[in-house]
Amino acid sequence: MSTSGKLTLITGPSGVGKGTLVNQLLERHPQIWLSVSATTRSPRQGEQNGINYFFHSRAGFEALVEQGGFLEWAEFAGNCYGTPRGPVEEQMAAGRPVLLEIELEGARQVRRSFPDGFQIFLAPPSFEELERRIRGRGTDAEDAIQRRLTRAREELEAQQEFDAVVINDDLEAALNRVETLMGLG
Ligand code: 5GP
Repeated sequence: MSTSGKLTLITGPSGVGKGTLVNQLLERHPQIWLSVSATTRSPRQGEQNGINYFFHSRAGFEALVEQGGFLEWAEFAGNCYGTPRGPVEEQMAAGRPVLLEIELEGARQVRRSFPDGFQIFLAPPSFEELERRIRGRGTDAEDAIQRRLTRAREELEAQQEFDAVVINDDLEAALNRVETLMGLG
């Protein structure tokens, strides 16, 4: 089944494994176009501008907001994140399946602008497991971890708003489920 021109969005709390799942999905289905977000967060070790994110200063990000350059944007754990509007519109117009990997507030905004989009919530098997994964990643300072955990509780409460909830216990099983939901067979 073709998913051309369709918009799919994946949300889930920090540490649930969205990045790994999305990377695997892109490897298996190179026709999918993943939106590269803009952020004011500092790059983590190994992250590259234009590949993982477009890294901006606060002022630079705010200028883009003013210009209407974002499809959606939100503040998350002290930083701003946004989806550049132009590339998404171009890819959709070209009929490519578009994938967004963003947090809850942004997902709610996208739901309003793209009511036909399909929104998936990726959930951890338990909150304890999520905390273990966030700490195990070893990339964030304790205050950032605390902010992410607080936000994770709020995000988990919103999962019933989504078209589908996929539990990321076993990566392969979660991937298969997402593929089925996206009609990728
Ligand atoms: P991280 O700092 O761990 O890369 O991302 C933090 C959160 O921001 C994640 O939940 C991620 O999905 C979300 N995020 C990444 N890009 C965007 C975006 O363009 N818009 C919104 N609203 N959230 C984003």
